[in-house]
Amino acid sequence: MTETEGMNAKQKLAYYTNKFYADAMAAHDKGELVCWSGSVTPPEFLVAAGIHIVYPENHAAAVGAKHGAIEILELAERKGYTMDNCSYSRINLAYMDLLVEEKKTGVTPEALKKLDELSIPRIPLPDIIILCNNICEVLLKWYENIAVSLNVPCIIIDVPFIHHMPIPQRSVDYVVAQFKRAIEQIEDLTGKPFDYDNLIKVQEQTQRSIAAWDKAMGMASVVPSPLSGFDMFNFMALIVCARSHFAAEDTFNTLAEELQAKADAGIDAFKGGERTRIAWEGIAVWPYLSHTYKALKALGMNMVGSTYPSAWSTHYEVGNLEEMAKGYMKCIYNNGIEERANIIATIMENTNCNGILYHNNRSCKNMDCMTVEVQELVKERTKTPYAMFDGDQTDPRNFSEAQYDTRVEALSEIMEQMKAEKEQA
Ligand code: SF4
Repeated sequence: MTETEGMNAKQKLAYYTNKFYADAMAAHDKGELVCWSGSVTPPEFLVAAGIHIVYPENHAAAVGAKHGAIEILELAERKGYTMDNCSYSRINLAYMDLLVEEKKTGVTPEALKKLDELSIPRIPLPDIIILCNNICEVLLKWYENIAVSLNVPCIIIDVPFIHHMPIPQRSVDYVVAQFKRAIEQIEDLTGKPFDYDNLIKVQEQTQRSIAAWDKAMGMASVVPSPLSGFDMFNFMALIVCARSHFAAEDTFNTLAEELQAKADAGIDAFKGGERTRIAWEGIAVWPYLSHTYKALKALGMNMVGSTYPSAWSTHYEVGNLEEMAKGYMKCIYNNGIEERANIIATIMENTNCNGILYHNNRSCKNMDCMTVEVQELVKERTKTPYAMFDGDQTDPRNFSEAQYDTRVEALSEIMEQMKAEKEQA
């Protein structure tokens, strides 16, 4: 009998998410190593070495979703981090300062107390940090600042940007060398030889978790869909934070079973109200998750495709570091315009989307800098309309409900018109 026997997928999500943060705090209190990690950074080496990982991006998203961002963002701005910096980094760097202040003075700063009152889980200060720049270069400077401020070691897995497929062998070799260097750094930190047998087990677990995630997300291709993409956003916490653990596999298999049962019974996410299907490109607007969802639902627009959750579907052959290197380099955000458009269009085709909504995210320059070119390529291939709205994943000051509503209404009108024309033809 497992600890989650009898729980449904949502209960498992809540249980494992809380446990994940509580375990990291407990590990820190016991003097065990805790690492802060970039979200699409390989966790396999650290997990194999028994190092606990927490994810500042996921934590910052929780701060945003629970409406605790403004005050902490202002703290970061007073330190000189402007609104043009990624809001995940601003939240994390300000949060780090609050933890340091609490540690030094023994008194919990007011801003930290407010986050505690919002039930935002605590993360401990790290003993080590790790990042992989397969999602952006911001992480490099952000984590460098953490390493300097806290005087902790920083593992960097530097991956070359992939301008065109296929991935050149020299890039694969370069990333494998980064992996080997990371393993050496972990050996230095733990004072123990690296356990390669355990790495195989962790890789196997990671691939099982990803297979379960793919299966659950794949249910969005059913028409009408039993899954709303906004549920995908919620469940993402575990693919980000626990993909190398059984927790992710357990939860996503349960979710896939529940969705299959719904599909078999003819129950869809909108209870018969799905009129059109869209893809969402970009990160969710965490402080406005409810508004962004409800505005689409009111128009019968079900969001069923997104490249964001699939960024964690990193497939590779277990035991093969070259394949693992390729898997992490294939992350959509590490790819040039053509491959990015190809990934988006393929997701739209697989999930029968009739349109796409782009989040023009002020925080995330990597996603924004390619938006217009990618939009046109996707439109050319899928022959579907698109709209774009301005927003930010965790800074609520950069999002306007009215603008969002206007854009999705316009997209809905075009999609409805195209649907009507198709039905008449
Ligand atoms: S939101 Fe964008 S800029 Fe910020 S960490 Fe993620 S990928 Fe990098």
